[in-house]
Amino acid sequence: MTAVPVPVPPGLRRLSSWRRWSLWALLGVIVAALLVTLVYLAARYEASVAQANVERDAADALSDIRSALTRNVQELQALQSGRPDPERWQADAERLLRGHRDWVRVERRGPSLELVAQADTPFRAPVFARFGRANSLPEIQQACATARRISGHAYARSHFVPQPDGLGLELMELCLPHVEAGRLLGFVVATYSLTDLLSTHIGPQMGRSQEISFTEADGTRLAMHGLARRGARVFTAQQLLDLPGNTMVLRMDSWRRSEPDLFPNVLTALVTVMSIALVTVLFMLGHDTRRRLRVEQDLADALAFRKAMEDSLVTGLRARDLQGRTTYVNPAFCEMVGFSPEELLGQGSPAPYWPPERADEYRKRQEVRLAGNAPPREGFETVFMRKDGARIPVLIIEAPLINAQRLQTGWMSAVLDISEQRRVEELSRASQERLQATARLATVGEMASLLSHELNQPLAAIASYASGSMNLLQQDAPPAIDLQLAMARIAEQADRAGRVIKSVHDFVRRRDQAREAVAPRALLDAVFPLVNLQARKLRVRVEIRLADDLPLVLCDRTMVEQVLLNLARNAMQAMDEARVADPEMVLQVRATPPIEGGRRWLAFSVADVGPGIAEDVKAQLFTPFFTTKAEGMGLGLSLCRTVVEQHGGSLVFEPNLPQGTIFRFTLPAQPDVPA
Ligand code: ADP
Repeated sequence: MTAVPVPVPPGLRRLSSWRRWSLWALLGVIVAALLVTLVYLAARYEASVAQANVERDAADALSDIRSALTRNVQELQALQSGRPDPERWQADAERLLRGHRDWVRVERRGPSLELVAQADTPFRAPVFARFGRANSLPEIQQACATARRISGHAYARSHFVPQPDGLGLELMELCLPHVEAGRLLGFVVATYSLTDLLSTHIGPQMGRSQEISFTEADGTRLAMHGLARRGARVFTAQQLLDLPGNTMVLRMDSWRRSEPDLFPNVLTALVTVMSIALVTVLFMLGHDTRRRLRVEQDLADALAFRKAMEDSLVTGLRARDLQGRTTYVNPAFCEMVGFSPEELLGQGSPAPYWPPERADEYRKRQEVRLAGNAPPREGFETVFMRKDGARIPVLIIEAPLINAQRLQTGWMSAVLDISEQRRVEELSRASQERLQATARLATVGEMASLLSHELNQPLAAIASYASGSMNLLQQDAPPAIDLQLAMARIAEQADRAGRVIKSVHDFVRRRDQAREAVAPRALLDAVFPLVNLQARKLRVRVEIRLADDLPLVLCDRTMVEQVLLNLARNAMQAMDEARVADPEMVLQVRATPPIEGGRRWLAFSVADVGPGIAEDVKAQLFTPFFTTKAEGMGLGLSLCRTVVEQHGGSLVFEPNLPQGTIFRFTLPAQPDVPA
């Protein structure tokens, strides 16, 4: 529980949501850039591997060709050695040609290049049959001149020889001088077919995946081997074939398939899988964040709703922790006690709103509460002090404060200001009292006629004694004894009249609120003179039945006397109105057996033998101002019931069989004190 929550201003919320989105966008861009870079690097790595492969293959091919050429030179050297006779040379040359598909011809020439002998490859039709050898002479001369100059074998630039099938051959002449003891004896010229040179010395495997060709330095293609499937991308490697007298470029083209490989190797696959995982995690994170945002929004709404509710409450709310410190107050509470939240929050005992004179009592009550004792559910009443010192009666309903972990963290109190309720109660009590006083006066008014009737007798007696005394006094010697007697009688009658008046006076004036323990007999004695006045006028026989050793009644004496008087008067009037032949009224008091933990009650009853109560009257009997009498006020019974119920008892009536009505009411007896 915190103090009054401060709502987030909408501007701030917009800003933070804008920031959140921009952060997300930034993250997305970074991740995308990272992925693109990774894929690009992986692809580049793959390309570099492919390039390296081609370079390696080209270097391998070159070294194969180089060593083959060197071997060939040695074999030609062997052909010359020992000055073979023409037949043997011819046989050796033809044998050599059968073992060398890359040669198309081997010639033996004299020192001035004149042709001495020649042998053609058996693998193809004679190459020079159609256009003759003359076209190749410049190349032969070039090669042999270089050979002589460097005293070793030399090659000529390649040249093209058209063939009868419409195609042609790119040929390269190799010239090997035959020198013995410093004297030039002649030359051996071997003619290479470049295409066959490639196909003979490059493995067929290589030719399937790559194109290998000889080119000139400017890129002109001379011969080619292999026909790889063409693709979107080519990796090219070039190696220089540097021969004495001729330099060519060995070029290798390796074609990639036109469909780019999605997962060309483990690295790219790994990077891709990780990228997918990253994107998935990002997506899930985004989803989670969206859900969190929604929950946050709901929470904010709930908080706003709660705050609106707390602010609009007229009930004060106060929360205290387990140490008794105030942790929360709502505006209604602050308004009630006149302190600001800052003055109240965090305050332990004594709280600023405790009246100093009751602080000790409150502290004890708080200790009891903090020890874990729950207060009564219906709450308890107490008094708080406003900041200006005014005391206010309040009703507090407390409940334990349980957190989400089901642990008690303190106490929550709802505080109701009950001053207004108190004021209304006071008003209603006052008006009730006034009503009762009015009713009493009405009874008195009614009694005035009885009183006059009752006073008539003593007054008439006084008057007659007085006139008798006057007569006596007019005599010369009035008999003192008679006068004395008359005076005594007058005094007696005046005293009687005085008692009658006093009984009324007592009844009207006595206003003693407090409950007291009274003997039932004393109550009956108090109303008896007044009851008797009426009884005598209406010739009603009054019987009083009182058990001995009745407990004392705990009651507001005056009120109960009026109840008795009212009931007795109603009974006598009813019998009088119905002109009952032998009117009789019984006033009875009994004690009930102990109930509710030894508590005893006293049951009072007033029975008459009147006409009983008609059905339609029954329902309205206790309604104020309901009366069937011309001069009645209709307040008697309603007041009687109020008084009895204020004492905790009840007032009921029932038929008095065979004739009449009994009114019964109960009053609490004083515990265990016999009268
Ligand atoms: P009031 O006596 O001024 O009429 P009450 O409230 O005392 O007012 O009585 C209301 C009515 O109840 C009476 O008018 C009368 O009709 C009826 N009532 C009261 N007591 C008796 C009784 N003992 N027998 C018959 N009727 C009665």
